[in-house]
Amino acid sequence: MQKPCRGGACPRPAYSHKKQYNTKTSSLTKKRSTNKHMNDEHFMKQALQEARKAFEEGEVPIGAVVVQNNRIIGRGYNNVERLNDCTAHAEMIALTSAFNTLGSKYLMEATLYVTVEPCLMCAGALYWSKIGRIVYAAPDDKNSYRRATAGHSPFHPKTKLEEGPCKEESLQLMKAFFEQRR
Ligand SMILES: [Zn+2]
Repeated sequence: MQKPCRGGACPRPAYSHKKQYNTKTSSLTKKRSTNKHMNDEHFMKQALQEARKAFEEGEVPIGAVVVQNNRIIGRGYNNVERLNDCTAHAEMIALTSAFNTLGSKYLMEATLYVTVEPCLMCAGALYWSKIGRIVYAAPDDKNSYRRATAGHSPFHPKTKLEEGPCKEESLQLMKAFFEQRR
């Protein structure tokens, strides 16, 4: 049996693509999860681009994007130094930008992609936003919300939290930043 097509530059003729929709549910589910994975990678790379902007401005390189219906509705990167504001984390800025785009204070249908695991303050803001899903690239044992929550989740009960792609890229960027500062 042919392997399922991953789209894009697939050399197989169009009829074999169509055939895919007649196959059993299991392969459809597999295709959906492949798509989800590809989307996660695509949007996490966008969050990494935001993190690189922070790096270039001498800020701790963390970036975030908020996505709804495959569209970026908010972006942000760490701006603590420039704004002299220790609350100006990437997630806070991306959230405000998303609220403005939608004209809504809730983000139930949206996903936040962030390059580093959120801190407790951002977890609180994300709680109030009722965001549908949070995907982070790199865990942060030192500054993440876990430091203060003793195993309890500070997120909204309806929010899904996942470790996603691009962990190495995110860690490399953070490492490069702190090495440069020494
Ligand atoms: Zn934070």
